[in-house]
This record gives sequence, structure tokens and C-alpha cells, in this order.
Amino acid sequence: MKKLGIFIIVISGFLFLLYGLGYTDGKSINEKEKEILLNNLVGMRIEEVENYCKKIDIKLEIEYEYSTTVDENIVISQDIASGEIVSSGDVVKVVVSKGNISVSVYQEYKVNELGKVPIMMYHGIVDMKSSDTEYRGGNVDKDGYNRTVEAFRNDLEFYYQKGYRMIKLEDYVNGIIDVELGKSPIILTFDDGNENNFKVLGEENGELIIDPNCAVGVLEEFKKKYPDYGVTATFFVNSGLFGQEEYNDKILKWLVDNGYDIGNHTMTHVDFTKIDINKTKEEVGGLYQILDGIIPNEYVNIIALPFGSPYKSNHDNYSTILNGEFNGKVYQTQAALRVGWEAEVSCFDIEFTPTFLKRIRAYDNGGEEFDIEMNFKILDNNKYISDGDVNTVVALEGDKNKISSNDREVILY
Ligand SMILES: [Zn+2]
Repeated sequence: MKKLGIFIIVISGFLFLLYGLGYTDGKSINEKEKEILLNNLVGMRIEEVENYCKKIDIKLEIEYEYSTTVDENIVISQDIASGEIVSSGDVVKVVVSKGNISVSVYQEYKVNELGKVPIMMYHGIVDMKSSDTEYRGGNVDKDGYNRTVEAFRNDLEFYYQKGYRMIKLEDYVNGIIDVELGKSPIILTFDDGNENNFKVLGEENGELIIDPNCAVGVLEEFKKKYPDYGVTATFFVNSGLFGQEEYNDKILKWLVDNGYDIGNHTMTHVDFTKIDINKTKEEVGGLYQILDGIIPNEYVNIIALPFGSPYKSNHDNYSTILNGEFNGKVYQTQAALRVGWEAEVSCFDIEFTPTFLKRIRAYDNGGEEFDIEMNFKILDNNKYISDGDVNTVVALEGDKNKISSNDREVILY
């Protein structure tokens, strides 16, 4: 009798301990017996992992990817860490190596990292239906500098469906193109800091309420819709920033905190052919100083040339646009965008000139005059297509002499 009493106390104590550790969750002890600590699967062969998972009755989800460092059919990573508790019916996801990517894969996907990269130029995104404008295809003005929000949504859907994935302009300038195998990079830019690029409706618990029909509202919608789109854009502002005095600082901070970039579009949207060198310093350096005051070290040292002016990089003011000093502070511009008409060369192309980059005007002109349709038709035959590995430059054997010197591993096929 005494022995039984002690036994009951010990068992109760054990149950209490289990309960305290949160292991029982109200389930019976029998069920608990199926809980085990997950092994380290990394480095195991996938067949071994399959057998192991069968034995402990957990489901396995396998994703394959190419790897230059892990042998074929070996597990690269697991989503539940080793040592974590799993129980019957749980799902563990593993990434398994497909081994080194082979030439046949490059051929299959037509990989070409010397292909062209579209840098899209947008201005205003106007909250209206395309059928309500006087012009075609969602152009709000004659030249299509401003687009309806409906047209903008269509543009984003079109780029995604054609296999484009967004990258940061700054990354492209720095030779970083990180998109999936078989996909192509696209870069979005917005000039002039139009209020409809980032329209604040108010604040709630210290958070900005963003108009879902402004440019950023739509971009955020696509971020949710297509998590693999890599949604980002660079906004080029003047001294008025986004034209919402009470929110301007918060808008800039929100943008850099949420994966967007801010660049320089001069203080007053000046035409560089109409001013002297001193005024050039004020226009460029002044705007950098405004950004320094709000988002120090978090903006990009890239300028979008207002009106695309001075149109040629040997203009007297050009070197001052790139480098100068204003109010005792030195500035340096890493890249400059003009108003162009077609896609740019790859950042690995010998002709790549970051201080004089072309952009595509994002507008509709019935497939003519270098509108979106015409440009993407051309791109179908010459676009950049990624091998999925940010560290290599893969190109056709015949283009060997077109590759600029860079610190990447070059693979020709
Ligand atoms: Zn402008």
C-alpha cells in the first residue's frame, strides 16, 4: 500500500513536470510517445531522409535547387532545426541539391547574363480608369508621362507574367543581379516625387495609412500577390519631396524601411543646360543635403537628370553633376539616368556606363515609338536571363569579348 502511494506520487510528479514544460498540451501520454527530437538532416542523402521520416511518421516536402558547393541529392537545409520536437504527421521541408548546373540547363533556359535590362521610367500614377482619359492605353497626358492606376496595375502584371523580377537600381549599378534561374531583371523608377506616388491618407497608431491606389499602394499590393516578384523601386525627388509637408519625413523613412530607394532629381527640377557650375552644385548638393537630414546614409547616390538634360555626358556641367562640393560638403554621384527610349546593357557588358543610363518611358503608343509593348517585343530576343546564381556571369561563348572585367566567376557556353 505504501509502495503504491509513492508510485502514484512519482507518476503525478512526472505528469506535473511534463505539464509544466508544456509538453502535454492536453493530449494523452500515448500520443506524446510519438514526439521525438528531429535529427540533423543537412548533409544526409535524400533517400536516407525519406526512410528516416517514414520511420518517425513525419511528412517530407522536398525542394530542389542547383548548388556549386553541395553534391547532388544531398540535403542543403531543413526548415525545422535539428533538436526541435516533432510529432507524428508534422511536415518538415528540406532543400536538396541538384548538383552543379549544367550547360543543358543554360540552353534550356537560354541563360544570357549579357542581355539587356529594362529600366522603366514612371512619373505620376493617377487614380482614374483608363477609359476616362482622353488618350490611349491608360496614358493620362499626350506623351504618357502620367499613367492611370489601372494601366500601372496592368503593367506590373505584364512584367511579372513575362518572367521579369524587380531588382534595385543600386544593385544593378553595383553588378548585383539576384533573380531566379530563367527569370529576367527589371528596374522601376519614378521621377518628380508626385503626391500620387505615395499618398498618405492619415495615421493609425503611428503607422502611415497609404492610399491603395497610389504608386506605392499598388506596389505593396503586388508584393503580397507575388512574393517572388522582388517588389522595389527608386523614387527621384526634388526639394518638395512628396509634396506632403507633414508626412514627407515619415514617407522617406517608410520607403527605406520597406525596401524602396530615394534618389536625387535636383532641388528645383533644373535644366542643366541653362545653369552654370555654381548653380549645378547647389541643385545637386542641396538635394543630397536634404536627404542627409532625413535619411542619412540610406538614400542612393544616383541622380535622374531632369528633362534628361544635358543629353550628353561631355557637357561642361556633367562632371559637377557627378562630383562637387556645396555648403562645405562634398558629394559624389554614382550613377545618372537620362530619359531614354530602350533597355540598357547588362551591368557586365563592356559598354556599361552607369553615369549615363537609358530608361524606357513606361507608356502606351500602340506598339510604336519605343513604348512598353515595342520595347518588350525587342527584349524577347535580347533580354538578360539569369542563371539564378548571383556570383557568376553566364554568357554565350561568342560574347566572350563583350564581358567587362569584374570579380565574378565567368562561365561561357
Ligand atoms: Zn522630372
